Amino acid sequence: MRRSFKFLLRPTSKQAAALAQCLEDHRELYNAALEHRRTAYRRAGVTIRYGDQSGELKHIRADDADGQARWSFSSQQATLRRLDKAYASFFKRVREGRTPGFPRFKGRGWFDTVEWPKDGDGCRWDSQPEHPTTTYVRLQGIGHIRVHQHRPVRGTVKTISVKREGSRWYVILSCDGVPTQPLPATGAVAGIDMGVASLVTTSDGDHLANPRHLAASADRLAAAQRDLARKKPRSNRRRKVVSQLAALHAKVRRQRLDGAHKAALHLARRYDVIVHEELRIANMTRSASGTLEAPGRMVAQKSGLNRSILDAGWGVLLTILSHKAESAGRELIAVNPANTSRACARCGHCARENRLTQAEFACTACGHTAHADVNAAVNILRAGLALRRAAEAA
Ligand SMILES: [Zn+2]
Repeated sequence: MRRSFKFLLRPTSKQAAALAQCLEDHRELYNAALEHRRTAYRRAGVTIRYGDQSGELKHIRADDADGQARWSFSSQQATLRRLDKAYASFFKRVREGRTPGFPRFKGRGWFDTVEWPKDGDGCRWDSQPEHPTTTYVRLQGIGHIRVHQHRPVRGTVKTISVKREGSRWYVILSCDGVPTQPLPATGAVAGIDMGVASLVTTSDGDHLANPRHLAASADRLAAAQRDLARKKPRSNRRRKVVSQLAALHAKVRRQRLDGAHKAALHLARRYDVIVHEELRIANMTRSASGTLEAPGRMVAQKSGLNRSILDAGWGVLLTILSHKAESAGRELIAVNPANTSRACARCGHCARENRLTQAEFACTACGHTAHADVNAAVNILRAGLALRRAAEAA
C-alpha cells in the first residue's frame, strides 16, 4: 500500500534561507506560467498546455542561471503540473455545472510546497546513510538537511516534498509498497458517530478525542483575525499578525491531526469492522471558509457551524482512519447518515421530537433514553451491518 511519512526538518540558517528562496522561485514560476496561459488565451484564444510550458523550462533556466537554474528541473515540472491540475479541476467543476474560482495567482504565504517527483532526481532521501545517528535529505541547490526522523520509513520512497508551516519546514515522503501490519481479529464491531462535543462517539459508548483544546486555539484564531482587520495594509504590524495567524493555523492542524491519530489508532486496535457516516463536508465548509486575505461569502452566518466542523476535523479523521484500517486489515463501511440521529436505536421510531437536546435522546414511542451520539452510533452500526449482509448475499 501507499502512504506518506512527514518529518520535521532541522535546516541550518543558511539552508533555511535557501529553502525559502527555493519556495519563492517555484511560486514565481507558478505565477508566471499562470500569467502565460491567461495572456495567450486572452490575446490570441490560444490554449497553453503542460507540455508547452514544460518545453519552455529549458529556456527559462538558460536565461536565469543564478535564479531558476539553481533548482531541480523535475521539481519545476511538478510545479507546472500542479498548475495544470488546478486548470483541470477548474474545467471539471465547470462541466459539473458549478461555479468554481478560476486558478489564482499565489501570493506570498499561499504557496507552501515544492515536490520532487522522484527520489534520486534532484533530491535524495537518506543522503548520508553512513552517518551513525542522523538522517539527512539532500535537495538540489540547498544541500544535505538534517531530518528529525521520529519513526522508521517503510516501503520505497517515491516522491519527496518540502512544506513550510509557519516558521517550520517539513519533509513529506510518499512511499510505495509499505507492508501492511494486520492486527489480530478482536471479534468486535462498532459504529461511530462524529460530532462536535466529542470527535468520535462509539456504539459502545466511548467518547474519543474531545476537541475542546482545539476550540481554545480557534478562539485565539478568531481574535487574531479581528486584529488583522484593524491593521493598515502593508504595515509591519499587519505582517506580524499575519505570521501569528499562520502559526496558529499550523497549531490547530497539529492538534487536529494528533486527536485524529489517537482516535483512529484506538478504533483500529479494538474493532474488526468500523461503520461511519458518509460525509460531504467539503461543500458545507468551502464557501464560508475563504482565506485570510479574502474571506468567503456568508462568513458571519456560517462561521459558527463552519468552525465547529473544521474544529472537529471529521475529514481528517476519516482519512487517517482509512489508512490505519487498510494497514491493519480492518473493514471500514460508510453508510448514509439520513435519520441516524433521529431514529430510536431500540424500536426504530423516527421523529424529530426524539431529540430533546443536542446531548439527549428520548424515544417518544418506547421510552428508550440514551446519549444522543451513542444512539446515533448504534444506528450507524446497524445500517453498516445490514449493508454488509446485503453485500454478502448478493
Ligand atoms: Zn423507541
